Amino acid sequence: AVPSVAAALRQVKLDKESELRVEVSPDTHLRLRLLTGSAEIFGTEMAPEIWLTFPPRLKFAVFTWYGATIEMDGSTETDYTADETPMISYVNVHAVLEGRRNRAKASSSDSDSSQGPRVIVVGPTDSGKSTLSRMLLSWSAKQGWKPTFVDLDIGQGSISIPGCIAATPVEMPIDPVEGIPLEMPLVYFYGHTTPSVNADLYKVLVKELAHTLEGQFAGNSESRAAGMVINTMGWIEGVGYELLLHAIDTFNANVVLVLGQEKLYSMIRNVLKNKPNVDVVKLQKSGGVVSRNAKVRQKARSYRIREYFYGLSNDLSPHSNIANFSDLVVYRVGGGPQAPRSALPIGAEPAADPTRLVPVTINRDLLHSVLAVSFAKEPDQIISCNVAGFIYITDIDIQRKKITYLAPSAGELPGKFLIVGTLSWIET
Ligand code: ATP
Repeated sequence: AVPSVAAALRQVKLDKESELRVEVSPDTHLRLRLLTGSAEIFGTEMAPEIWLTFPPRLKFAVFTWYGATIEMDGSTETDYTADETPMISYVNVHAVLEGRRNRAKASSSDSDSSQGPRVIVVGPTDSGKSTLSRMLLSWSAKQGWKPTFVDLDIGQGSISIPGCIAATPVEMPIDPVEGIPLEMPLVYFYGHTTPSVNADLYKVLVKELAHTLEGQFAGNSESRAAGMVINTMGWIEGVGYELLLHAIDTFNANVVLVLGQEKLYSMIRNVLKNKPNVDVVKLQKSGGVVSRNAKVRQKARSYRIREYFYGLSNDLSPHSNIANFSDLVVYRVGGGPQAPRSALPIGAEPAADPTRLVPVTINRDLLHSVLAVSFAKEPDQIISCNVAGFIYITDIDIQRKKITYLAPSAGELPGKFLIVGTLSWIET
């Protein structure tokens, strides 16, 4: 009786080991459900017959191991089926990791062998790193493990907002629509979306995060055995490569998965050849990974910040709060943009200490900035402290010395020390 809706309803039959790749339209939602058989979205099984509603622009694949029929309601930017996927090789990696988790669980909890796999996923931009991380986490959570997801990608991370590195235990297969729940992640604020702004600070924060997790694992044999999956940035040249090696080393990764680049694989294998306990594995990139240009990435960052305050489907109501200048103390770390060491003449030292705290005078330059609220009680704890959350500056009244900001909730901030970087946002 409602022709336009009926016309948009479509069924797609998927053969075994094939996938339906979908890009949701830029301005409408898409509904999709599993009619027959079984299927999963990036490692998370679909419940039969339940409609899932995907927000505009989302890109995903519905994969089936044994065959399925999918029903779609609505138009898409593109959708097509593919029977060539690297999924078998991915699930084989999962099987090996499972074996290691079981062995870790069976060992006495104080020995080194009680440490489960520490997997780090590396590769160029748009090689499917986040997606592979997600699948490995969801498959393992499905089997009852609580692996820790570490996201070192300050550009397109999936745990917190851009400019952060973060970690969170994954207790359930990741929801295909909602993604990682933003509940209580461990977040460190770097404040920029490219590591070159202050690569040394990035390293310091990676170390802090690793150190904190190490402490948590020491007291928790369950999460120790489940191990970690670490997602990294797609920047693999120069300083980016150096930062990858630094992350592998700092987290004591024992499995390095290299996606879609022979050169990077051979470079890393060479560097690690004296470490027999680290496996370097080359994996094929999926043909379904969608490339994103700089503009699309910038937009994705902006949506991510919006999602922090307003929720994925406008289901959160952030509060506009007013504070006196004297209530808040704003710091910048490293005193502004700084050349990476590699860009300086040999032997020269960068002028500024990368972790120097520089007090920032509150003025209209802070307008539209996204600041992190530190858990630090004293300024000298700011670098080593994780952050509670973020605020967005919407007005600065110089005359009355009042600052208006958006926060996820009303009431006093969990700390008075704020960190500013180069992260900004224009509310749309
Ligand atoms: P970055 O360069 O930001 O680090 P990445 O290597 O982590 O990117 P992903 O984020 O995993 O790449 O993938 C890029 C995009 O492609 C994402 O939107 C993801 O949902 C989509 N994608 C990945 N695999 C598939 C697939 N098989 N079918 C359809 N879309 C896919």
